[in-house]
Amino acid sequence: MAENGSYFAGLDIGGTTVKTVLVDEAGDLAGEMVEVRSQVKDGYEATFGQLELALVQLTANIGISREQVCGIGMDVPAPSSDGVIWAQANLAPDWVGTNVRDCFSQRLGGVSVYMTNDGNAAALGEYAVRKKHHGGLLLVAPGTGLGGGLVLPGGRAYEGQNGLALEVGHVSVPHREENGELPKCSCGLTGCLEAWVSLMALRRRVGIELAKTENAGHPLNDGSTVEEKAFRLRDFAKAGDELAISIFRQQGRILGYGLADLVRVFDPGLVVIGGGLAETVGFRDDYLGWVMEGFEERAWPVYLRSPINPEKETTQFEWASGGDSSAALGVAFSAREMFG
Ligand SMILES: [Zn+2]
Repeated sequence: MAENGSYFAGLDIGGTTVKTVLVDEAGDLAGEMVEVRSQVKDGYEATFGQLELALVQLTANIGISREQVCGIGMDVPAPSSDGVIWAQANLAPDWVGTNVRDCFSQRLGGVSVYMTNDGNAAALGEYAVRKKHHGGLLLVAPGTGLGGGLVLPGGRAYEGQNGLALEVGHVSVPHREENGELPKCSCGLTGCLEAWVSLMALRRRVGIELAKTENAGHPLNDGSTVEEKAFRLRDFAKAGDELAISIFRQQGRILGYGLADLVRVFDPGLVVIGGGLAETVGFRDDYLGWVMEGFEERAWPVYLRSPINPEKETTQFEWASGGDSSAALGVAFSAREMFG
């Protein structure tokens, strides 16, 4: 049976796949997530074809016409401003400099499209799944790098004047290697937060620690690659291995230092931690404890508890819902807010 009313689509464009959802007027998920290949390396027109395929499937699944899709939110894995991608690493060159948001809107006969980057979409997704949460939130996601996004109270992502805000991975942290040096970051600078808390940082740390004489007999010194060692480190930490724990503890604490500064700037009330690095069941609580340790070391007491009501935590920390469809849901939710 065909359904009435307005719907909003969320299209989360990643390097390999596009995850897509529909939400209804109330902001609730309508039907199942549809995932298609993104084909981003074949040019944006190829991806648009895939997005249209997904829209056909999404609408068919719940028996509505495409005309009932009144707005679309999409996110791209690159910094973008007002529909235009500024720079990219994993997309075909024609994505840069074209207003892909407006092109896609025209292709669909003028339907309104909102476009943002993947960090904002993930933050919006965390906001969308917390139905009882009315304040804003700051998301940080340690993975290969360190992504982030800020949602303001009311549900809009803060994107900055040029869409370049919340590059949280590249704020400086007051921490040095044992030899006094600042670690190199993927961005070309040194001393960035990302250079301490990402997967890249984990690999560097594992290499440094295992090269020390006192760790020569560690079971990870088994001839495997540094990538494999870093991958296995979580299991070692979970099993109580002191070296593995000390490496993750340092990462968590330094993320806490960075968060103390970010919270001083934004006072988000809620910090959500996502990303693939610590996403192991049974390990996340330990990691979060180390983040809190670092945060408490560098944040003023007012960012921990209200001086007026000491029962009240002024900054709460939570894990990301981590759902596969959460970024798609986030941009769908924004499209509903903007175009509904
Ligand atoms: Zn950097």
